[in-house]
Amino acid sequence: MIRVSSRQDFCTREMEEIAASSVGPMSTTGSLPTPAHPREAEVIEVFRGGGAITRAGLAEVTGLSRSTISAVVTRLVDEGAVKVVGHDERDGRGRPTEQVAVDRAALRALGIDLAHGAARVVALNTFGEVLASRQAEHEGSPGARRRHELVERLLGELDLSSATPALRGIGLGISGPAALTRPERAPWSGLVETLQARFAAPVHVDNTTRFAAFAEHLAAGDNGRTTLHVRCYQGVGGAIVRDGALDLGADGMAGEIGHLPVEMPGMTCRCGRSGCLETVASTPAVLSALRSHGIVLRSPAELRAVLEARPPQLRGVLERVAHGIARALVLATTIVDPDEVILTGDLVDADDALLETIRPLVAESVGERFPVIPLDRGRLDAFAGATGAALVVLHPRRPGKDLFA
Ligand SMILES: [Zn+2]
Repeated sequence: MIRVSSRQDFCTREMEEIAASSVGPMSTTGSLPTPAHPREAEVIEVFRGGGAITRAGLAEVTGLSRSTISAVVTRLVDEGAVKVVGHDERDGRGRPTEQVAVDRAALRALGIDLAHGAARVVALNTFGEVLASRQAEHEGSPGARRRHELVERLLGELDLSSATPALRGIGLGISGPAALTRPERAPWSGLVETLQARFAAPVHVDNTTRFAAFAEHLAAGDNGRTTLHVRCYQGVGGAIVRDGALDLGADGMAGEIGHLPVEMPGMTCRCGRSGCLETVASTPAVLSALRSHGIVLRSPAELRAVLEARPPQLRGVLERVAHGIARALVLATTIVDPDEVILTGDLVDADDALLETIRPLVAESVGERFPVIPLDRGRLDAFAGATGAALVVLHPRRPGKDLFA
């Protein structure tokens, strides 16, 4: 069954056109695995901290019962994520006990990112370590078929074994909120079918911004925190991660900061409203503003050179973007109360100038009674979205609302 959003009234004409041009109805193929054992994460953490260990050793370190350890380890061995690597005969009594360890070469999760001028794929093992990754940049906005072919080519280059029994799932990151398109008619439906057929694993589709936010949150190391992540690329997206879990909201729209109104009157947004942050801070909006000041760029990659050259027209453009982001952040942080705000985007990736312009604006606007939330660039590279898509599959507290159930 595919979850269908109840927010169709929010669909734009553009999104309706995308849906109308898409491939046929999608079905869920392959059997979906049963959820991970609720204590599995604790056992994995013990494996992460050491090498081979017996089941008795796992019980001793975790404090879990022998039967729980047996249930967890048996499943992991059956899946191929954990293997028997030796025997412990030290006690000299009875038959030797097996020593088990995580098979670091076993593919556990695949992440795919279809956004932002490139396709990226990443393969992770049980510990979330990268086994292999590939990317291919592309010009403009290739159609669904071209992107589909690109992903298949990249997956081929990963040189995965034809048998992937330990694979628990695949995360597929797309541009914009997945909740806004009808999954059964969405442009990525054909790719989902192909992936499910090839890997016999569930595919979790969501906005790549949400996946990137998840990866950034985990990369911080301290998961007992709240991260608000804002990404300004072709569109402006946002996501909230609390205590190691993505906040989806009722309809998968939590954190969609790009459609907060920041200018009044403002330009018409593709969501149908006007003055949204996206009309100010997305890369197309920035390039358009620069163009109106006589700076014509052929691609976002040329932003870096403009920021370095600091032409006089740049200041006004940057200040408009900074004011827009600052207004949205003051609203969002008041509601979300995050520990940190992570900002990524073509402008931020190119230079610190935008961050340095935003920080004092936010500090001025929040007032004395609210804390100033630390605002920083992302910790991860361009693979954040793909990595997060795979980590969502691995993480024991992944979102409860999958598009496929
Ligand atoms: Zn909007």
